[in-house]
Amino acid sequence: MSKVRVRFAPSPTGYVHVGNARTALFNWLFARNLGGTFVLRIEDTDAERSKPEYERQLMEDLRWFGLDWDEGPDQGGPFGPYRQSERAAIYSEYAEKLLAEGQAYYCFCTSEQLEAERQEELKAGRQPRYSGRCQKLSAEEVSRRKSAGEPAAVRLKILESSFFWNDRVHGPTTISSEVIGDPILVRSEGLPAYNYAVVIDDHLMEITHVIRGDDHISNTPRQLALYRALGWEPPEFAHLSSILGPDRTRLSKRHGATSMESFREMGILPEALRNYLALLGWSPADGKTEILSPEELTKQFSLDHITKSPAVFDNDKLNWLNRHYMKECPPRRLAELALPVLQGAGRIGTEPGPEVLTWIELVLGAVLKNISLLSELPGATRIVFEYDAQQALGTPEFHELLADPAAIEVLKAFIPQAMAENPLTYPRFREITKAVQKETGKKGKDLFHPVRMAITGASSGPELEKLIPVYEEGSKLPLVQHLKSVAERLKEFAEAAKL
Ligand code: GLU
Repeated sequence: MSKVRVRFAPSPTGYVHVGNARTALFNWLFARNLGGTFVLRIEDTDAERSKPEYERQLMEDLRWFGLDWDEGPDQGGPFGPYRQSERAAIYSEYAEKLLAEGQAYYCFCTSEQLEAERQEELKAGRQPRYSGRCQKLSAEEVSRRKSAGEPAAVRLKILESSFFWNDRVHGPTTISSEVIGDPILVRSEGLPAYNYAVVIDDHLMEITHVIRGDDHISNTPRQLALYRALGWEPPEFAHLSSILGPDRTRLSKRHGATSMESFREMGILPEALRNYLALLGWSPADGKTEILSPEELTKQFSLDHITKSPAVFDNDKLNWLNRHYMKECPPRRLAELALPVLQGAGRIGTEPGPEVLTWIELVLGAVLKNISLLSELPGATRIVFEYDAQQALGTPEFHELLADPAAIEVLKAFIPQAMAENPLTYPRFREITKAVQKETGKKGKDLFHPVRMAITGASSGPELEKLIPVYEEGSKLPLVQHLKSVAERLKEFAEAAKL
């Protein structure tokens, strides 16, 4: 097979939705797996809804997602320009050709006329489609109306009675042309229609495989008609099933986060999203491996294992994968990703030095087990940043603690010894608790529970072995909030509890 060339062809009219992210990913994996070319083409013919900032954002999202393109609007390539708004001359050239050959015709119908026709068809219980009325206009009438400046669209004459293609996902597919009216190629305002521009571009850019969402299945016959009219060989098509929400309706904003941007903000790692989206409709040859690194995905991807049934988006599975990839992530990189989240929550100032990142590594080591998303960090690190003995003592569990003579005995023995250490290291903490055990005869939970509550201000949380270094190191750093050392915490506690 000659080298494959695929494209991702988003319209920059909003944030990139997971469905489109998956389309981009499948194209990219397919190209990388076969050593082919991945093209980014911006379909911005809808001048009103397309915005440069969406284009910028989508490129940033793709880069974050780890997808790179070999040709595209920012870097060019042999088949540019790669922005449809810059290809107007190419589109008019082929429209002229089709008109001259009688394969296309001018249509003067106004949108009101078309809508009235549509309503009539619906009323008669027929599937509405364009009647082809303007096809019957005489050459004289067309040229008279054109020269009078009457707006006219260009339509393609559909000649075939049915369309067939062998879809790489859905298999042999036939669609009758009964449901297909002559499609508009160029709108009356002069803008190329999607079905037109996409065929011209896919052909001229030598695209071999069109991998896209199955919402485009109904467009495929119109595109095939155009390939035929232009005498071009169509590419192969692979239509990916839709993605559904847990209620089995098409995934949309109603289901919560669906844009790449929102997943990034939630603190999903790109490799987790990649692994997750790859499994939405595709599975590796063994049919069961769920954790596939970016390298594994590229190695194993093929169009042969894409399912045609819709895929249901499962947040729990995405979170599970994210936990996996957070654990796998090199600590420094994870700290760098966590930093803006902690800054956003007002925990850390704007210009932290490298020692802050080292400290965040410690923090993550303590709390990572309890979170699925980096956005949960502000909540999960409350035990690190917030300590208010007075407030803690107002809660029932602390009332209970202070009403227990055994706990008081432990605290009275522990607090002065621990406070004398500044900073308190974990090995010293162990020695002190051993001494307290000897002195009071208390051990296990009876010993550690009161100690934990006094130090952390909470009855549960990460291991003290991890928290103590976090408190000691953090108290030395210039953070937005002064972080209390263990000695400061115990002093505050002893005063509030009048121990
Ligand atoms: N711009 C179209 C879309 O975003 C591209 C469809 C296609 O891949 O042909 O849906």
